[in-house]
Amino acid sequence: MIRKLWIGISLLALSFLLFSCTKPEYVIEVDEQLEAHILDDQFRTYYEIFVGSFSDSNKDGLGDLKGMTNRLDYLNDGDPNSGKSLGIDGIWLMPIMESPSYHKYDVADYMSIDKDYGTLEDFENFVDEADSRGINVIIDLVLNHTSMYHTWFKQAKTAINAGDLTNPYIEYYSLVKEDGKEPGKTYYPFAQDYFYEANFSQTMPELNMDSLLVKAEIIDILQFWFDLGVSGFRLDAIKYVYLNDTQKNLDFWSWFIEECVKINPDAYIVGEVWSGDALIAPYYANFSNFDFGMSQLEGAVASTANAADAVNNYVSYLNNYRNMIDDYSENPNLTPFISNHDMNRSAGYLNVSDYRMHMAANLYIWSYGTPFLYYGEEIGMKGSRGTESTDANRRLKMLWGDKDTVIDPVGSTYDIEKQTNGTVKDQINDPNSLFNHYKKVIMIRNANPEIARGTYTSLTFTGYFTFGGFLSTYQESTVGIFHNTGETAITIDLSLYTDYTFTILRGFAGKGVASLSNQFLTIDGLTSVVIK
Ligand code: CA
Ligand code: CA
Repeated sequence: MIRKLWIGISLLALSFLLFSCTKPEYVIEVDEQLEAHILDDQFRTYYEIFVGSFSDSNKDGLGDLKGMTNRLDYLNDGDPNSGKSLGIDGIWLMPIMESPSYHKYDVADYMSIDKDYGTLEDFENFVDEADSRGINVIIDLVLNHTSMYHTWFKQAKTAINAGDLTNPYIEYYSLVKEDGKEPGKTYYPFAQDYFYEANFSQTMPELNMDSLLVKAEIIDILQFWFDLGVSGFRLDAIKYVYLNDTQKNLDFWSWFIEECVKINPDAYIVGEVWSGDALIAPYYANFSNFDFGMSQLEGAVASTANAADAVNNYVSYLNNYRNMIDDYSENPNLTPFISNHDMNRSAGYLNVSDYRMHMAANLYIWSYGTPFLYYGEEIGMKGSRGTESTDANRRLKMLWGDKDTVIDPVGSTYDIEKQTNGTVKDQINDPNSLFNHYKKVIMIRNANPEIARGTYTSLTFTGYFTFGGFLSTYQESTVGIFHNTGETAITIDLSLYTDYTFTILRGFAGKGVASLSNQFLTIDGLTSVVIK
């Protein structure tokens, strides 16, 4: 028996579609197994939040944990059939621990919540509320360096100045004398004739991972946060731990994941190795890693969504990358995304009104693994580093369009109010909004577990530039995912390209509609489809 899951307006409107100028509306048919298909595993859809810019509960202008908790229903109200929420089922929080900076990537106390954001109790409540909606929470863990205001650093400095070289905190940091400086690394004067390694900033002294004392601290930190209910961590600056020594790095992170799994066998870990694909791949031996090759203006997703590159090339990119990762991991959970807090926002180079942003969402959310959205992406928020070269412009306040008192971070220079594609309030009840497109794309992904978890068979459509797709097979069930990045509809006889016989239209998303008649697929321009 088929149950109809409504998105947008009525089936009546859909049936009149061909005869009216109304923008296409949408219905997906799913069988009764929808709930079962929203699998409680690690193949999720994550949403990255900069807490300080998200939602302010106490009117001091700073986003905080309580504000974010109040907004959870927007992200996922716990009812997959309500159709009211974005539908993500994982949240990555950028650093929440005590820190002197607005971005908090320099930690002063690893077992605390920054006072700007609230209390440990607020955090536990947030995790509980997220959990009751089926959302897993991971937090940023910044282990390569601490803040220079961390008590470890201050105690080490005091000890050296006092001539006490037996103080245990001295070995916590990567300290050298003049003749111990390594080329390619950056050092600053510490105390007496010692220097400390700090490749990011003078305010971010780097920890010494050779120290068993530091490793013991890390285990305590992991235990602390797992006890508070986190599902895992996003690991910052993976390759800087042993800068320019990949093997020592891999060994360290191998130790790290073993310790994680001892505490929480289901830990979900995703690492930041901001490098080329071939350098990212070996880290999959330890845990998931962000697929940077898909991100930003020049990446595989945006160049395809903008029709600057062929869909066939995107499909072969996915296939080649997956094959590369398979050499390191038996069942990898890949991590596609288009932008994060260190990148210009994607709506700056993917035009929303031209449906290029919609196509980008289709391309990466309907690819393998666990896609990561950056907060505000779903409403086409803008913000780029600009001539002032400030990352704060990439981390602006969430545009709720209501009375939220959250303000832009210090140092930002970009007037987001003048460059908007519409607020949440504008978009949430508009069936044609980008928000509702993202919601639809995530829902179709969840209703078709083959997309995220399957093994790929790439298809090559010779002679086509703006059309392409692939098959994905999971537990002996196969779906086909096809994209049309051109402006006009095409009809294609799929039997010329695959022996697989399609029978069901599972869903489509984009500017237009799609239909399946025997093996003939018709797909409008700027539209993607999932068939089975
Ligand atoms: Ca606040
Ligand atoms: Ca380091």
